[in-house]
Amino acid sequence: MSPDPVNILEEGPRQTPVVDNPDVLVVGGGSAGLAAAVAAARCGADTVLLERYGYLGGLATGGMVILLLSLDDGNGTQVIAGLCQELVDRLEQRNAAVFPKAGEWGSDDPALIDHYRKWGLIWGGVPDRVRYSVAYEPGEFKFIGDQMVAEAGVRLRLHSWATDLVLDGNRISHVICQSKSGRQAIQPKVVIDATGDGDLLPWAGLPFEAAKVHPYRWYRMANVEAPDEAIEASAGKFFPTLGGRFFNTPGANRTLMPWGMSDHIDRRIDPTSVEDLTYAEVESRRLMMQQIDKLRGEVPGFANAYLADAADQLGITETRRLIGDYVLGADDDQRSFDDAIAVTGHWTRYGARYQIPYRALHHGAVDNLLVSGRCISVDRRVHNATKEIPACMATGQAAGTAAALAAKGSGDVGAVDMNGLRSALIMAGAILAP
Ligand SMILES: Cc1cc2nc3c(=O)[nH]c(=O)nc-3n(C[C@H](O)[C@H](O)[C@H](O)COP(=O)(O)OP(=O)(O)OC[C@H]3O[C@@H](n4cnc5c(N)ncnc54)[C@H](O)[C@@H]3O)c2cc1C
Repeated sequence: MSPDPVNILEEGPRQTPVVDNPDVLVVGGGSAGLAAAVAAARCGADTVLLERYGYLGGLATGGMVILLLSLDDGNGTQVIAGLCQELVDRLEQRNAAVFPKAGEWGSDDPALIDHYRKWGLIWGGVPDRVRYSVAYEPGEFKFIGDQMVAEAGVRLRLHSWATDLVLDGNRISHVICQSKSGRQAIQPKVVIDATGDGDLLPWAGLPFEAAKVHPYRWYRMANVEAPDEAIEASAGKFFPTLGGRFFNTPGANRTLMPWGMSDHIDRRIDPTSVEDLTYAEVESRRLMMQQIDKLRGEVPGFANAYLADAADQLGITETRRLIGDYVLGADDDQRSFDDAIAVTGHWTRYGARYQIPYRALHHGAVDNLLVSGRCISVDRRVHNATKEIPACMATGQAAGTAAALAAKGSGDVGAVDMNGLRSALIMAGAILAP
């Protein structure tokens, strides 16, 4: 909680330069925003992508969450393709991804399961099956992201924080951003909130649900001797809970530590509070180094290992979620929707299939705003599935395509023709129904 301000500064009217007026403005360049911007531009929209940091990918790169879980339904059928599949293909071409091939998906072969579990690609309960999930190198993801937006003709603005917006009736007329270039405004026809945190929701006066979460810091160790044995030796001893173990990761003699700090940070934090974020950044770094020192001292394979890299973004699973025109719930497993724009499985449940309706990306009170990624309109239980990177890319691709279609008309995203949207998504390789 922020302390009460001791006093309030009244600011006078300001003049803010309007630096761009695209058809589509995507705010946030994580996995969802990347997909949204590329999809919008490929559909012919003049598109700007605004990102607060110096690279694309969000948690999928800077958060070191470097496992795409999962593109299948757990029974061997692929349910997410489109831009996420294109990303996997491009990673594979650069030798930067490890994943089971199509013939292995759904397999219950114990040797295969053991192999891919060590890569962090299998998380369900027994009886286990091989999933279509992907371990990858984050630096390559950033580079491919740069290439994809450049090829699509997206105008990328890095190091720019969206800080506010201006409403004109039911429409967002401007989004305000702050950077080293100063305070600027962008005047888009359609806006997509891909900030993960749903930053635009309170500014637009839309209803949302907010969560407090345990923050995580993922990290990788280098120079690990005999990684398989070192991983086994460190498992139960250091990390007693679910997932509390290192995994193999691309690169020789490297290991990935995914859920390290969950047992140690003593409280949930509000991911929109500067005080809580500051506490979590410093505390999780301290605990990570404490854990590394212990590993080096007590597990032989780690004796000469060193910290390869630590996530520079805290792992925040959820912040704000829109309460939109439809709130997708756990009971919607296997349900069909006429306005389905994506489908996702569940990384820990075999056979779950959630079609995601277009109404979960929108609230009728603001005509020209869509959301995508981890802030879409779902309940907490379904969020566990829709927050995964492949699902975020699928809702990003849908939001970008819809925004481009809306921008060809009045900009009203509620007026988008569903047949046209769904056809465009299918033409672009997306899967809307398994
Ligand atoms: C600990 C943890 C473990 C996870 N494990 C997995 C896993 O194994 N596999 C998996 O597939 N998924 C996993 N997830 C989920 C997944 O990583 C995220 O939900 C997903 O990456 C979110 O993508 P996004 O694009 O919606 O949001 P983000 O990745 O958060 O991207 C949002 C982007 O917007 C930018 N931004 C934010 N605010 C602003 C602003 N005001 N102005 C400008 N830019 C802004 C950010 O810098 C960022 O680039 C995990 C998540 C966590 C936290």
